[in-house]
Amino acid sequence: MSNRTFTMIKPDATAKGFTGGILEMMLKAGFSIKAMKWTKLSTEQAGAFYAIHKERPFYRELVEFMSSGPIVAAILEKENAVADFRTLIGATNPANAEEGTIRKKYAASVGENAVHGSDSDENAIIESNFFFSELERY
Ligand code: ATP
Ligand code: MG
Repeated sequence: MSNRTFTMIKPDATAKGFTGGILEMMLKAGFSIKAMKWTKLSTEQAGAFYAIHKERPFYRELVEFMSSGPIVAAILEKENAVADFRTLIGATNPANAEEGTIRKKYAASVGENAVHGSDSDENAIIESNFFFSELERY
């Protein structure tokens, strides 16, 4: 089991000024930052990042949305990071998200749901490598 996960604060949340509040929830939950950047994905980059969803009906909408504005990408560290972070962000659809989760507080809809969290140790590594070189991690 790995102690790292990968996250993005999505364009809806950066646009609404939720970046600071979301980072605070992550830190208060015991995650520490190993890498972080403010950047914007091209449609090609967003398409590649979410290639796993290529066949899903919402893929096009997802790629448009994820390239529509700036994001914060980060590698976070904590014991049991992937599972604990998924608990912290809450259900994909904020209508189903538990009280106290990031999506309950900050997400608008199933599409514009404020944050991304890796769903496995394997994907956490792939997604971290998509954004960060070794020199950018500390
Ligand atoms: P993420 O991978 O972003 O952390 P997730 O793992 O909770 O989210 P996935 O099933 O991996 O959910 O879907 C990836 C993203 O695709 C969702 O976060 C959401 O932005 C978008 N998405 C998922 N389902 C829908 C849907 N039915 N309609 C529109 N967008 C959707
Ligand atoms: Mg996912």
